[in-house]
Amino acid sequence: MIRPLSQDNIVALATAPGIGAISIIRISGKKLIPLYKTITKSKLAPKPRYSSNKTVYDINGIPIDNTLITYFKAPKSFTGEDVIEISSHGGEYIPKKILSMLYEQNIRQAEPGEFSYRAFINGKIDLLQAEAISGIISSQTTKNATIQLKNLNGHLSDSIQVLKKNLLTLLTRIEHELDFSEEEIDFTKISEINSNLNFLYNEIKKLLSSARFGNIVKGGIRVVLCGKPNAGKSTLFNTISGSTKAIVTDVPGTTRDILESWIEIDGIPVCLVDTAGINITNNYVESIGINKANYEIENADILLILDEKSPKDFYKQYFSTKDENRIIFVNTKSDLGLNSGEGDNILNISAKNNIGIKDLLTELSTVLKNHINYNYSKDPVIVSVRQEKLLLKSLSILKNAKNIVANNFDIIILSSLLRELSDSIEELLGKITNEDIFENLFSSFCVGK
Ligand code: GDP
Repeated sequence: MIRPLSQDNIVALATAPGIGAISIIRISGKKLIPLYKTITKSKLAPKPRYSSNKTVYDINGIPIDNTLITYFKAPKSFTGEDVIEISSHGGEYIPKKILSMLYEQNIRQAEPGEFSYRAFINGKIDLLQAEAISGIISSQTTKNATIQLKNLNGHLSDSIQVLKKNLLTLLTRIEHELDFSEEEIDFTKISEINSNLNFLYNEIKKLLSSARFGNIVKGGIRVVLCGKPNAGKSTLFNTISGSTKAIVTDVPGTTRDILESWIEIDGIPVCLVDTAGINITNNYVESIGINKANYEIENADILLILDEKSPKDFYKQYFSTKDENRIIFVNTKSDLGLNSGEGDNILNISAKNNIGIKDLLTELSTVLKNHINYNYSKDPVIVSVRQEKLLLKSLSILKNAKNIVANNFDIIILSSLLRELSDSIEELLGKITNEDIFENLFSSFCVGK
């Protein structure tokens, strides 16, 4: 739980605990130079942002470790306060010893996320950037880490600032008009207001269109392998995921549960799902597996339809509708030459002999790109439910505002709607306090962040 911003000096291990070459201990607080001098027995004050090789001593003056120590003078530090970072030898003993010595110097252990919280309160980062820090730490894939880093560097914040600036200009203007009677607001003014509202509306819509991509990048997509028993699903599953998770036999109906394996394609997390073969069965356990398979097929982002003879025939037999842009038809066991030679848009593979797998992955990557359909390198990406909710709220306020302008123009209602919009934009940046959000976000950070 986050305390109200305290004046205490705080300390925490910034690197993961355990065996490692080095550990970093971070201290933040007010006027840390005396502490620096005490723990290093230095006479001179440290030069800000320069690392020095210093021995750190315990309170009895006994050396603990040779360290590299850096002092950051407020406000030019991560938290905006004085910060000291001590890089010591890693492992269990030394970092613990340094931490105990610092507790004895009246510095308390930081709460989870307290450094970031202080950075936020001191205006070093906004809430969108704080969310990006949390995102970077939990990133498992390249693309997610790239997007979160861009957001930390202000990619998303900048575009919200542009909205804020435009909205403020519009609000000032409208509130100025409030001093005049409504009859005096001529057509030109109304059409200008309209075009400002349209600008805001379109920008927010564009931001919202990134939400799906943001979710995919964080949560991944599901690629489901589907076909009759013995079609070669498990062999392909094992070949792509480089595992032997799925049991491969020539006895039909072996895969009865759902198997998952995570891989990364073009920086996107992809969950490969092996399912029970689809057929009409009297076997109770197998039929449960088939029901689960049907559920997975319904919820798949991309379907791989596998058959050794004709995946298209299999598809026609078992599927009524499914977006064909998200289906890849795969002729399996090409080495046996059983396929019906349908040709078009069908990939030939032999998973057992590792033939055609590269082409299949290339096709998967193409379908994935079409499925995602978002230019993430240019446009900012929203990455949390909180951001999405506030943008949806802003969009709905703007819809109302546009209605007011189009129908019975009422400048007082318009102005109050725009104030509401301004509040939700401020809330996005974290300028309007919402204790629950802070609580959830910062307390989910690790200690030391
Ligand atoms: P699933 O029931 O669809 O999961 O199919 P499996 O992956 O368990 O494979 C069924 C049988 O087909 C096994 O005996 C596999 O060794 C065999 N098999 C799978 N892929 C190939 C292949 O590319 N070529 C040949 N000749 N046999 C394969």
